[in-house]
Amino acid sequence: MIYSDFHGLKLSRLGFGCMRFRTDPETGEVDQEKVNAMFDLAIEKGVNYFDTAYPYLNGKSEGAVAKALGRYPRDSYYLADKFPGHSLPGPVDNIALFNISLQRCQTDYFDFYLLHNITEWSIKIYESEEYHIIPDVLKMKEEGKIRHLGFSFHGGPELLERLLTQYEGMFEFVQIQCNYLDWTLQKAKEKYDIITKHGLGVWIMEPCRGGKLAVLSDENHEKLQRLRPSATDASFAFRYLQGLDNVKVILSGMNEVSQVEDNLNTFDHYDGLNENEVDTLMQIAEGLKKGVPCTGCRYCCEGCPMGLNIPYLLECYNDYKYAASMSAGMRMDALDEDKKPSMCIGCGQCAHACPQGIDVPAALAELADLYARGPNWSRDVKGRHEAIKRDLNMK
Ligand code: SF4
Ligand code: SF4
Repeated sequence: MIYSDFHGLKLSRLGFGCMRFRTDPETGEVDQEKVNAMFDLAIEKGVNYFDTAYPYLNGKSEGAVAKALGRYPRDSYYLADKFPGHSLPGPVDNIALFNISLQRCQTDYFDFYLLHNITEWSIKIYESEEYHIIPDVLKMKEEGKIRHLGFSFHGGPELLERLLTQYEGMFEFVQIQCNYLDWTLQKAKEKYDIITKHGLGVWIMEPCRGGKLAVLSDENHEKLQRLRPSATDASFAFRYLQGLDNVKVILSGMNEVSQVEDNLNTFDHYDGLNENEVDTLMQIAEGLKKGVPCTGCRYCCEGCPMGLNIPYLLECYNDYKYAASMSAGMRMDALDEDKKPSMCIGCGQCAHACPQGIDVPAALAELADLYARGPNWSRDVKGRHEAIKRDLNMK
């Protein structure tokens, strides 16, 4: 196993993500035997980092993790959990909610704790005085129930820079969506550089983009096979990330023993990609993209009569075009109504100003449609609201 040094802790670079365990389709119960078998194998080969969260698997992930890890000494592994600020039905008793996670995980403390899913939308909740989340989480840290504090992040680079500047010294690590596709598509490179510049550790989620980079098209798969005949597509995605010096933990949401075995082989020793292999991945990434090549230069913004944040909207557009995600929907939700893409009047000023020749009005019209039809956080979060109310005995 390859390890990272993080403030003197020895963290396995492969972290076990616990949001994709197999569940019974009727009862929703986790297949505990399989979780135990996967954990046993991972631990035997040196994995010591396990990542769960309050809402994962409708609250069943934390309990399954507790059962599997409860068979090992508490100081032999690191447990990460998250505060679900983005899923709250309103201001709640944050400490009671935190204690539910502790109790479900059968532990007195979390080694790592994250504010879950910060975006331009959810940051308004996390920073709200009424919700009082940050002071309560800091209190838990002062009491020793949180050893290391961070946040998981799905927003853009500007927000990340603002947070790490404003809250300097509060957080020790940031978990971002990063893989060889999102390196450019979701500006993961910029986010990685910002986190590194601020001296924090980078944690990676979605290293295979929800499995999409683990099973490539036949054509792309063959390109990789020509480079390393016995390697899986997933192993290329992981090895790409292994080459980034400030990446401390790479989370993989494993749900089959065969997946665990493949990942353990990839992380057994460092075997980074060479220049030609990285170039091939970047070519594959370019071929997977379906959006527009916006560089964020902002030449188009000054003359927009509606004052739209065009590069921000095009970031969302590119994300939607690849795969409509809840995070992209949340970033769109963050915009005031008069800054949504539907407010574009099609004057074309931006397209004339754009050195990349992007047909911005056409992209914004399509984005407005994709947003209207795509994942809708405010609709889909209702089930989570009810679950939290139930857990806290709220009416
Ligand atoms: S076409 Fe739309 S986005 Fe472009 S300048 Fe006009 S109003 Fe703004
Ligand atoms: S001018 Fe073109 S490349 Fe520059 S931010 Fe606007 S759309 Fe993007």
